Amino acid sequence: MPYTAARLIRQLRRLWVAPELGLLYHRRERRVRLLTSAMMMFMGVVWGLFFASKGLWLVVAMDGALFTFGLISLALTGLNRRQAANLVIFGSLLVIVIGNAVLLDPPNAMAPRSTHLYLLALGVAALVAFRDDDPRLRYGVALSCLGAFVVLAATTADLVPGYALPDDIRVPGTWLQTLAATTMLILLVHVLLTDATERSELEAELVQALVLHQFELHYQPQVDAQGQVLGAEALLRWQHPTRGLVMPGQFIDLAEQSGLIVPMGQWVLETACAQLQAWAQHPVRSHWCLAVNISQRQFRQPEFVPKLLELLQHHRFSPSRLELELTETMLVEDLDDIKLKMLTLAACGVTFSLDDFGTGYSSLSYLKRLPLNKLKIDQSFVADVLTEPNSAAIVRMVLALGSSMNLQVIAEGVETPEQRAFLLDNGCQQFQGYLFSRAVPVEGVEGWGWVNSALSSNIPNA
Ligand code: C2E
Ligand code: CA
Ligand code: CA
Repeated sequence: MPYTAARLIRQLRRLWVAPELGLLYHRRERRVRLLTSAMMMFMGVVWGLFFASKGLWLVVAMDGALFTFGLISLALTGLNRRQAANLVIFGSLLVIVIGNAVLLDPPNAMAPRSTHLYLLALGVAALVAFRDDDPRLRYGVALSCLGAFVVLAATTADLVPGYALPDDIRVPGTWLQTLAATTMLILLVHVLLTDATERSELEAELVQALVLHQFELHYQPQVDAQGQVLGAEALLRWQHPTRGLVMPGQFIDLAEQSGLIVPMGQWVLETACAQLQAWAQHPVRSHWCLAVNISQRQFRQPEFVPKLLELLQHHRFSPSRLELELTETMLVEDLDDIKLKMLTLAACGVTFSLDDFGTGYSSLSYLKRLPLNKLKIDQSFVADVLTEPNSAAIVRMVLALGSSMNLQVIAEGVETPEQRAFLLDNGCQQFQGYLFSRAVPVEGVEGWGWVNSALSSNIPNA
């Protein structure tokens, strides 16, 4: 089986069978996207066969397009390309519905136009599907649907004559389409309302979690080629009173959108500084670094730098032990402001790493403009490094880039000795992943010396 097909099947399975990580809402959204894509394919085949039996080949061609775009969006969803999949679904449905309404469904004395009713449902669906995207995209798609609906609802003329379906199909079709489109609309409004309520409930719970100190930091070790601990990454967890331990994938996005990430991120930095101070006084851990994830909204705050400098002043540890993890996607806007903030902090000794490297922004020019110290190879490349030649090539490229630009490189998501061996053979010197340890509560750090000395003796090439 080709690698890409194997990867697609693996990802589809991961999406469908309750994935471990993954945002509560995004998980549901993915399922809806998978279902929509499958429905597009199914409708394309069923209607295609029906109209082929009637010899209406233009409609068969449209149904073929519906099937093809359904297949493309299914593949994109499988590859986790959420926005691209949404664009394919909405773009193709918009064009196909308008094409159907104009060509095949012009109003006449026997039957009014009905296909355009789907545009209302499509507009509401766009508000849900593009909820986390740029408002211009969200409202742009919704308004396009609304605009097309208004034009088609207000026009009685047969705009492109000669293609209308026979009346014996259009008359029952009008009843069927009106029923289907209005049911869809009601269901979608229901989804929109339920979703808004759930979100505001979760938001209120997050505020409460901050006040009631339900957040905690877990630590995942970062090790060198010999398995010696160099430090850790601090990962946020929510100790929920009824749901148990909630992973950040289920609340970080919402916290970012609502702005709660700012006080949450400040709490993370305060806790990380207190931890670094404690380690600074420990005989074995005084050299450990602690990497902290910084969200875009948090870093954009004008008070981010002064508040962090104040924290550094009030804690006794070398600021070079604190590493801020930024992501590539953060660097798309306001690069000058980001650079100034980074330079101010770097002048005090704080270091920076670029998280999820290779997955975001494509221009590499910022690498030489910003005071970065480290690149983190994204775990998706590490996961496929032994099976996908493209991932292996990207990993080699990042390692070469790091060495030529004098940047350290760490690989995250290392799960097997084979992955570690490949990385080591290609010059990687720092590792993080389940092979060494999962993220553990602060008490679990006690076990690291033992775990890693045991591991390193078993690790090939160590
Ligand atoms: P990330 O920064 O890319 O963190 C790495 C994630 O991969 C963590 O998930 C970690 O537990 C997981 N991981 C580590 N090793 C392996 C492995 O070998 N295999 C696999 N499959 N996964 C591994 P986690 O803790 O659920 O965090 C998810 C994301 O949440 C983080 O991704 C980060 O973007 C965000 N996050 C976590 N803590 C914070 C925080 O304090 N502030 C902000 N802004 N974001 C945070
Ligand atoms: Ca990270
Ligand atoms: Ca990462």
